[in-house]
Amino acid sequence: MKLFHDLADIFYPTTCPGCGKVVERDRGWCEDCLKRVWNPRLLNSSHTDHLHGCYTLCNYEGAVRKIIIQLKYGGRIDRKKAFPPLLSRFPYWDRLTFCSLVIPVPLSQKKWDSRGYNQVDMMFEEWMEKAGKKYLPRGLVRFRAAETQSLLSRSERYDNIKGIFHINRNVDVRGKYILLVDDVYTTGATMESAAHELKRAGAASVTGLTIASGAM
Ligand SMILES: [Zn+2]
Repeated sequence: MKLFHDLADIFYPTTCPGCGKVVERDRGWCEDCLKRVWNPRLLNSSHTDHLHGCYTLCNYEGAVRKIIIQLKYGGRIDRKKAFPPLLSRFPYWDRLTFCSLVIPVPLSQKKWDSRGYNQVDMMFEEWMEKAGKKYLPRGLVRFRAAETQSLLSRSERYDNIKGIFHINRNVDVRGKYILLVDDVYTTGATMESAAHELKRAGAASVTGLTIASGAM
């Protein structure tokens, strides 16, 4: 096995997703790129009516921002390789062991049809399954796209997105502790709305985790 890995390293060197520099297979990112974005934390004011707080891994800037945009809007599915090394480094998994079920924030059908995949699945699904957590890509369904949020205040954003998510009727979340995952946390309105629906469907608690955030 060792020989196989040595050979694999020669033929398929692992490169940093940020700068393309060759890095050791188990590191994933070079230290320079990582230290510019790495900021794992529980977000301030992320504990809302239905969301039991939200954690994030990185600041939404630099290489992480670029890679998320490429995966989301540029069809670059190959960029998904950037995320497992980040998830593996997350220092607060011990606070989330009670979450047994992972559900992503879904796309609207219209976005599914044009993109062909949910970028959130690309970021989390494989890693979560390997970590022994049950991942339900279609646990929630999104009935419509939100109107553009950027010009709205925080409370207007909540109203704008309220009632947009529905539980998949084949899924039973009653009494379950759920980890709700998304790519970017901005104001928390999306997370709160999705958590609201999960709680309405009987979930015991909903905690958030995103790859990046521009919030503190
Ligand atoms: Zn780098």
